[in-house]
Amino acid sequence: MRRETMCIQAGYEPKNGESRMIPIIQSTTFKYDSSAAMGKLFDLEEEGYFYTRLQNPTNDMVAAKITALEGGTAGMLTSSGQAASFFSVFNIAGCGDHIISSSTIYGGTFNLFNVTMRRMGIDFTFLDPDCSDEELEAAFRPETKAVFGETIANPALVVFDIERWANAAHRHGVPLIVDNTFATPINCRPIEWGADIVTHSTTKYMDGHDATVGGSIVDGGKFDWMAHADKFPGLTTPDESYHGITYAEKFGMGGAFITKCTAQLMRDFGSIQAPMNAYLLNLGLESLAVRMPRHCSNAQQVAEFLQKHEKVAWVNYPGLPGNKYYERAKKYMPDGTCGVISFGVKGGRSAAEEFMKHLKVAMIATHVADAHSCVLHPANSTHRQLTDEELRAGGVSPDLIRFSCGIENVQDIIEDLDNALSFI
Ligand SMILES: *Cc1c(COP(=O)(O)O)cnc(C)c1O
Repeated sequence: MRRETMCIQAGYEPKNGESRMIPIIQSTTFKYDSSAAMGKLFDLEEEGYFYTRLQNPTNDMVAAKITALEGGTAGMLTSSGQAASFFSVFNIAGCGDHIISSSTIYGGTFNLFNVTMRRMGIDFTFLDPDCSDEELEAAFRPETKAVFGETIANPALVVFDIERWANAAHRHGVPLIVDNTFATPINCRPIEWGADIVTHSTTKYMDGHDATVGGSIVDGGKFDWMAHADKFPGLTTPDESYHGITYAEKFGMGGAFITKCTAQLMRDFGSIQAPMNAYLLNLGLESLAVRMPRHCSNAQQVAEFLQKHEKVAWVNYPGLPGNKYYERAKKYMPDGTCGVISFGVKGGRSAAEEFMKHLKVAMIATHVADAHSCVLHPANSTHRQLTDEELRAGGVSPDLIRFSCGIENVQDIIEDLDNALSFI
């Protein structure tokens, strides 16, 4: 299947007389004929469902669709993108371990890593994603367990050089985790470029309609945990909470990561997506391949309009020739990047606020990357907790306006911008 078809068909194949749409299995528990049969599930001897805190059939159908789209071997849904980012790292790193992350990542991920996960005893090194090879090499330590980056950073719009970072990670025997939220698998498949684990905030383009918060994790199935057994004891030594099974042996390269993540982290944290939300997410996924090109062409036209406007100080969009990431974006995302643009207006912070007040089509919202055009001033909202220095390291200047192009008629978006700009 090609990706347009996968969006509609992957993950669920109804049998004779079964529902056309994926069923919503709105049930906390599942019935078994004998406790021996149920015991096999608890021992991970057999596949099946016993409690929706860990796994649910509706969620698994939707996860299977995302896994197919990313070209992975196994996948799972989480309650949010934050939960996906947390699980993707915590599944292979614990107290005393170290992670290398791109510094241009989503502000929420930065806080999760830099504050909350540090409190768990995990150390992080944040590197400029365009740092020299020497700096990147020097960041690795014996206790480094993974490398993390974002395909297109929210909101800095830095395009991550996936291949280069994957090669560095693999030279040091650790996986590369890539947050592919902004590009979506329609525009970029990180696994094809060497990424091992792909995460998403499905809240954004995948759901696409401001309806549900959610996340996903997909395993590319190419990382050989056993070849680096000493680094990943959680995958390569027996788990006593499941009668001594060893994930990497029993589930192989294709299944170990997601099985452990479900069996341990979902069991213990319960960050599960509600089946109803998974159903809504699936509706969004069905039109993802149709929506993404529209987001990209709207954003391209809006970026070109802004670039020519006398009241606009600067525009950042990887689709603009002359953008620092134009060539790299063409390599990783030949069909387009995303619908998000950032720009600054002349007059800085106060002019930005005045301009935003007059927008009518684009709404001021914390949200981004969905059907409705929306606008945000990160320094005043999502990135409020960060110091100016941290802001700049994350590629966010204090005057940066993040503009997310929806799929409305592009002329209406442009006229709205033009009108609001006339007030400053
Ligand atoms: C929004 C976002 C997240 C966090 O996702 P939630 O669903 O809001 O928890 C993570 N990464 C990126 C790139 C995002 O845009």
